[in-house]
Amino acid sequence: MSQGPTLRQLLADNPAAAGILDSMSGPCRCKRCVDRPDLGFENPAIREMLLCEICHNKRCPKATWHGYRCSGSNELGQVGEPE
Ligand SMILES: [Zn+2]
Ligand SMILES: [Zn+2]
Repeated sequence: MSQGPTLRQLLADNPAAAGILDSMSGPCRCKRCVDRPDLGFENPAIREMLLCEICHNKRCPKATWHGYRCSGSNELGQVGEPE
């Protein structure tokens, strides 16, 4: 019995499924990706504590946007540097 292609391989062959593949890698938890201002007080970016996935600091620039470099610091007023 031969093994067929995995679901991931099937999706990778189909450019239209690129979005599905992205969502399979897990939703990003940075503020910019989670932010849903249209939800008002239900906005997950307000309700949840969004931490940097690397250093787990709330004020790390990476917690604001995944495109910023992780500073490993929880200092106030940090300016994010693009990676
Ligand atoms: Zn993100
Ligand atoms: Zn960080």
